[in-house]
Amino acid sequence: MVALTREERRALRSTLLDRAPWLGDTDRGPQSVSAGECDLCGQEARLVQPCGPPPSALGAAAAPTWALGRRCAAELGVAGWCDGHAEEARTTLAWLAALPANADLVARLWWVACGEVRPDPTLSRTAVALIAADTVGNAGPPGADEALP
Ligand SMILES: [Zn+2]
Repeated sequence: MVALTREERRALRSTLLDRAPWLGDTDRGPQSVSAGECDLCGQEARLVQPCGPPPSALGAAAAPTWALGRRCAAELGVAGWCDGHAEEARTTLAWLAALPANADLVARLWWVACGEVRPDPTLSRTAVALIAADTVGNAGPPGADEALP
């Protein structure tokens, strides 16, 4: 089983928002960017699009929807934002730095919950386990509570 039903996705959204309220932010985080992996490293969930020009490593090849994960945004720093948004940059970088360690997994689950990406089997099992844990009110299948705090 790979795709979730509409009801499962709805349940997953509410479970995730309960456990990770930072997902509700629409200015940064998974709601503010297109689903996918960081355009620079390809190994972390995209969580933010700075308003400056794309990093030189992306250059002209950058899609209009380019976005970065936590590590790459931290490396780029305030310089990734335009001069007028330095304050916003600092706020956003602090917000990213304060995210829990599992934020990338949570972001990927969020995109699954929103129907933006089709989950791979591992992600799918995590999602179903989380829904079950909250629906039944117990710990759910092994692994469900390791996935999220
Ligand atoms: Zn990255």
